[in-house]
Amino acid sequence: MKINIAELKKQTGLVAQFDFSERIDHLYAYGQRFSFPRPAHLRVVLTNTGKSFIADFKLEVDLRAVCGRCLEEYEKPLRLLFTEEYIQGEPCEDTTALSYTGDVIDLREAVRENILLNLPLKPICDEECKGLCSECGVNLNLSSCSCGREEVDLRWADLLKLGLLPREGSVTDGGSKEENLKGKKR
Ligand SMILES: [Zn+2]
Ligand SMILES: [Zn+2]
Repeated sequence: MKINIAELKKQTGLVAQFDFSERIDHLYAYGQRFSFPRPAHLRVVLTNTGKSFIADFKLEVDLRAVCGRCLEEYEKPLRLLFTEEYIQGEPCEDTTALSYTGDVIDLREAVRENILLNLPLKPICDEECKGLCSECGVNLNLSSCSCGREEVDLRWADLLKLGLLPREGSVTDGGSKEENLKGKKR
């Protein structure tokens, strides 16, 4: 993901487009591993502004992660549009611009940083993912179980086991509750 800007440097206002198809190394964020099973497609439009180079990125890559609800691996496309500015010289603290030296701009850091910023905090295979049964652990997307209760968000599962949360769905299971209701009616 390197661009030789020797030609582009010669005149202010010059614009050039570059396409890349490259593997991206896996990343760790939020205590999880994110990987990219296939090469990323990257299109960069580079503009010489006279003072700097403006790079408009369009990135398409398949993201592989583990669902926080059902614990299965899943893949989802990640499409990002972002812009970076590159200034010649050593990296500088008081600017958000990136730096380059010589005639080469290396895009790898910008790509990595922008992917990191857009990784899901809580990866979910699908908004409709039913997760795992907190009783028997079965993947409720693949099969049902006879535990007879609503699926529980994994984040609450531990609290439920400790009895710190009211048990959703418990009103509908078991005969004893029905008897209680009948008892109240009487
Ligand atoms: Zn899932
Ligand atoms: Zn179950």
